[in-house]
Order: sequence, then C-alpha cells, then structure tokens
Amino acid sequence: SFQAYESYDYMFKVVMIGDSGVGKTNLLSRFSKNEFRLEYRATIGVEFGNRSINVDGKIIMAQIWDTAGNQRYPAIPSPYYRGAAGALIVYDITRPETFKNVEKWLKELRDVTDNDIVVMLVGNKTDQNNLRSIRTKDAKAFAHRKNINLFMETSALNMSNVMNAFTKVVTQIKHMMC
Ligand code: GDP
Repeated sequence: SFQAYESYDYMFKVVMIGDSGVGKTNLLSRFSKNEFRLEYRATIGVEFGNRSINVDGKIIMAQIWDTAGNQRYPAIPSPYYRGAAGALIVYDITRPETFKNVEKWLKELRDVTDNDIVVMLVGNKTDQNNLRSIRTKDAKAFAHRKNINLFMETSALNMSNVMNAFTKVVTQIKHMMC
C-alpha cells in the first residue's frame, strides 16, 4: 500500500538469476505475495516484487527483480544488474545442468556488478528430495570455493526457507552498508 512505501528506512535491490525453470518466479511470488503456481509460465521481460523486512529495528524494503533466464551467455542485459546490492543464483536440486550453469551465471554477475554485492546460492525444489541429484555438501563446497557468501536450500512449493533466504540476503546487505 501507499503507506508501506512511505514508511521504509532503506530499499535494497536484489536480482534473481539462474536457468529457466529452476523456480525463480515462484520464489519471488512466495516471498512477495505468498503465491505458488504449478503450471510453468515463462517470465517475459522483468518482474518485480517488494516486501518489507524488519532488520535490527529498521524497515528494509526488499525490491526483488526476476527475469527470464535463457541458455545464452551473457544472458541478461547489464542494466538489469545496475544498482543491485544482492543476488540470488538459483538452481534446481533435481537438474544437474542447472547447477553446472551456476558458474556461468556467477561469471556474468561478477563481470557486471561491484565486488561487494551479497550473493546467495539457492538450491530450490527440496520438496523433490527423492529426485535430488545435487548433494547439499557438494553445493556448499562449491559456494565456498567460489567465494559465494551465502548458501541455502529452499522449496517455493512447500515454503521451506523462502523467507529465510531473502531475509538472510537483506540482513547481510544491511550489515555491509549501514
Ligand atoms: P523460473 O523459470 O526460474 O522463474 O521458474 P518458475 O518459478 O516459473 O518454475 C518453473 C516450474 O517449476 C513451475 O512448474 C513451478 O511450478 C515449478 N517449481 C518452482 N518452484 C518449485 C519448488 O520449490 N518445488 C517444485 N516441486 N516445483 C517448483
């Protein structure tokens, strides 16, 4: 509402990247509207979602950007990343190629953003644990090797860790900036 926009202390832009189909749009809609869609609907252009989070007694407006990922690199025009304080690189724990491509997404991100951007690696779809092909410890080790600050596994379907993931990123940004 208008009131909500009037009353925040800081606004941070956070971008979501990763292969198409990994669940970016649903993570965003869970976070900003508490909605989930079973049918796949390719994101066209850019979508936004806002939600305020209280960190250390300050109201932070998280402005999350979501775009259609495709398989070409560089995949996303650089203005998408402009002003971003944080990024979620999302893969699907059941699809190895989406994890393999994290490296390309990370390179693209680091090519066009400042070094101090807060990055979280997100393994989504933990509700499909029986189909898992990426082990938690391997993803964690990869994140550590690549200097990715944060790692979390989520499910947009059953809401596991969704708030947690965005809150962690926003909290880390606040601690770096303010
Ligand atoms: P995007 O292309 O990365 O934005 O992916 P979407 O959010 O559009 O999701 C792609 C497909 O995966 C859709 O069919 C979603 O319903 C499904 N999906 C997204 N998140 C999850 C999840 O956490 N668990 C399961 N089982 N399916 C999911």
